[in-house]
Amino acid sequence: MRNQTLARKEESQAIDSFDDVAQFEAIAEQLVWPQTSWVGNAWVDCGTQQTMPLRRSPVDGRILPALFEGDMALVDDAVSQARSAFHRGDWAHLSPASRKQVLLQMAVLLEAHATELCVMDCLSMGKPYARLVQQDAVKAAECFRWFAEWIDKVQGEYVPANGERIGWVEKTPLGVVAAITPWNYPLENIAWKLAPALAAGNCVVLKPAEQSSYSALRFAQLAAQAGLPAHVLNVVVGSGETVGQYLVEHPDVSAVFFTGSSRTGRTVCNSASRHRIKPVSVECGGKSPALIWHGCSNLQEAVEEVCGRVFGNAGQTCNAPSRLIVARPLLDQVRQIIVGISGTHVPCDPRVGRPQHGALCSHFDVERIDALVRTATDEGAELWVGGSPADVVPGGAYYLPTVLGNVAPHGALAQQEVFGPVLSVFTVDHLDDAIALANDSRYALAAGIYTDHLGDALAFQRGVYAGNVYINGWGMDDISVPFGGLGDSGNGTKDKGLRAFEKCFASRSITICTKRRAPGPT
Ligand code: NAD
Repeated sequence: MRNQTLARKEESQAIDSFDDVAQFEAIAEQLVWPQTSWVGNAWVDCGTQQTMPLRRSPVDGRILPALFEGDMALVDDAVSQARSAFHRGDWAHLSPASRKQVLLQMAVLLEAHATELCVMDCLSMGKPYARLVQQDAVKAAECFRWFAEWIDKVQGEYVPANGERIGWVEKTPLGVVAAITPWNYPLENIAWKLAPALAAGNCVVLKPAEQSSYSALRFAQLAAQAGLPAHVLNVVVGSGETVGQYLVEHPDVSAVFFTGSSRTGRTVCNSASRHRIKPVSVECGGKSPALIWHGCSNLQEAVEEVCGRVFGNAGQTCNAPSRLIVARPLLDQVRQIIVGISGTHVPCDPRVGRPQHGALCSHFDVERIDALVRTATDEGAELWVGGSPADVVPGGAYYLPTVLGNVAPHGALAQQEVFGPVLSVFTVDHLDDAIALANDSRYALAAGIYTDHLGDALAFQRGVYAGNVYINGWGMDDISVPFGGLGDSGNGTKDKGLRAFEKCFASRSITICTKRRAPGPT
């Protein structure tokens, strides 16, 4: 009831940002936080369920509401009901126009409820509320709209077969899709999986990250309100190792769409085929190199962009340019710029104003990242800026944006995905060395170059092994541009864009024998 009051207030527009903490807390206080899984368009009775380990908010250390953990029986139920709904055609057999309307309405409701969804995410994973509401929620809604628009444009192919047969190839939904998502862009992470899968007519069982389950659960409830039939979208909360793994292995799951760390991605690839063969899409971590090269016409802008991208979301972005490679003659200037702008990159209370940076996702991450930075300086890296936890809100989990020069190329800081606001700087003399250094990683998610020398830019683009290459501008956030990694960053499938839609279908070949036969005996 309280959530409905909140929604009515927000129907016209979500709250953009809060001027003071009291305002934010008043909204947080009103929220009814979902605490149990969502199956068959209803909250699961939590009577027999265990609670998951309680989590502290990275914003200020408060204990977040308990979540009741789904178990194997619940996964069995969710998958089997989703499978029945799929085979009955409860969703896929609705007219394309009806399904499109439902997805469009999901986008409307997501926007209308952005305030409550983003307050939950802010307290759960520490990102500034204003950024969540102005970027993540907006992009997630856009993602649903974009895929909704494709629903009534799915076409097959006519195939001229030999002789007396004609045929066609049609696209058919896969069945029950298991979607496993991380926490770092909570609403976008689920939108990238759900929107194309649902648009293609699949039923979905989603296992969101433990750190960001509340908004996923609430969104599923909104999806039902938007008209999604029961069992088409189910959300089972629980730990990755138990509930996630059981879901991925499930014989009645037809396909697995995963985003998360490379370590988990490898496990998912292995376990998915345990009981049956199924398509698996894994989008994983990164350690992306950005090269500032001769002919970079606006060094200031390039360095600012790299810093903005690597420190944004407290460095918890898969394609963050966490390795900065600089042409040696430009190093001093680059260092001056980084030190000069470091004052603009400070973590702030994520609840108020419009700060760029908030908290890390957990207190554990503060210690983990600090240990990596200390090891690197012990190994000879020079600390240019940052390098310690930050005291922003008592009880919170904050770390200063940090830049280190002279980082050992094979040390942990250079090779591991830090997933925190830490930039490692390297210098090179020749373009070939820059390409070799860029490729000296098991990850291959993204790589970028800043130069006006077209030949060098193209040589870099051809030489780097990465799923996404950026020239003179980091990232391409447009929903129509496919995004995904190679190597340990992913298995070559993509999120976003038409590639993401294509992977949600199987193709079937149908033939008709046109031979005219003499009538047989009656
Ligand atoms: P994670 O691997 O710890 O968890 C991701 C999801 O997998 C969670 O829902 C988790 O519960 C589940 N999981 C864990 N073990 C599992 C198992 N054995 N079987 C099935 N599911 C299991 O990752 P995280 O910390 O949530 O997210 C951060 C990671 O995600 C980073 O590495 C980041 O780079 C990556 N990421 C990649 C992209 C991309 O598009 N490439 C986008 C966002 C995040």
